[in-house]
Amino acid sequence: MPARIIDGKAAAAELRRRVAMEVARLGQDHGLAPGLAVVLVGADAASQVYVRHKARQTVAAGMRSFAHQLAADTSEAELLALIARLNADASVDGILVQLPLPKQIEAAKVISAIAPAKDVDGFHPINVGRLAIGQEALVPCTPLGVMLLVKGVRADLAGLEAVVIGRSNIVGKPVAQLLLAASCTVTIAHSRTHDLPAVARRADILVAAAGKPDMVRGDWIKPGAIVIDVGINRVPTPDGKARLVGDVAFAEAREVASAITPVPGGVGPMTIACLLCNTIKAAASARDLAVSI
Ligand code: NAP
Repeated sequence: MPARIIDGKAAAAELRRRVAMEVARLGQDHGLAPGLAVVLVGADAASQVYVRHKARQTVAAGMRSFAHQLAADTSEAELLALIARLNADASVDGILVQLPLPKQIEAAKVISAIAPAKDVDGFHPINVGRLAIGQEALVPCTPLGVMLLVKGVRADLAGLEAVVIGRSNIVGKPVAQLLLAASCTVTIAHSRTHDLPAVARRADILVAAAGKPDMVRGDWIKPGAIVIDVGINRVPTPDGKARLVGDVAFAEAREVASAITPVPGGVGPMTIACLLCNTIKAAASARDLAVSI
């Protein structure tokens, strides 16, 4: 039987609905309106689209959105000065600096300058460290989305073999930490891994985050596995246009897996929904309030 298709669009819509309900409750009970500041440096077309989507969905959830569009030649010092102002601004609960940054700006320095309590991307070393040692942390949005989708298929992951293909700081490593925290036995594979198909075939949960179109074939998948495809790859079509494909050869994989995310419509929509989640959590936690999402 072909795998169940995990509907990330529906899961994201449900998550946004729950965030909006909590925002309304916090507004009513505590007069709180969470605010998210998104900083974009330069005019990268893809980044502009992401930032617009983030702003629209923030407002749709009842939160405040503060957009900061800076020129491509903005200096590192100017960006750090803006971050310092946002850190000190009580109406800003979450700060997100859209990556990549122009080459004159060191991303690691900027990320480290964001107050950890407002670091809704979860990239600050303090949040990365807290996640690693099992403390309450702001967790990167795409990995959070991956976990919500996996848990939507199977609530208890304890003892399962999980293989994550990719070891980036924004996807692979935090996904692996979250799977470990859920008591999976975790393998992180990467470009130097020997016999990747054999490693992948061990997985009850296979997360592909390599950025290689259709790399994971049907015969890399253990029968019945849950397959989460994080990859977003633009490949040219014969008519000169482009289409989005994941890292997993979907049609083949669907015949073997028990549940699988499509691309588009899988992990992608979860990312912004999880950003909204992190923003309301940051707002509540700054005031010692609880949120249930
Ligand atoms: P990245 O920083 O380029 O990292 C890719 C990782 O994959 C690296 O660890 C690399 O290994 C590994 N890799 C590359 N080729 C491989 C191969 N042939 N075999 C095994 N491992 C290989 O990418 P990323 O930022 O993590 O993103 C990964 C994918 O997810 C991309 O397609 C990206 O567009 C997508 N993405 C989607 C979302 C979303 O859905 N919202 C968010 C973020 C990213 P090495 O470390 O050895 O080089």
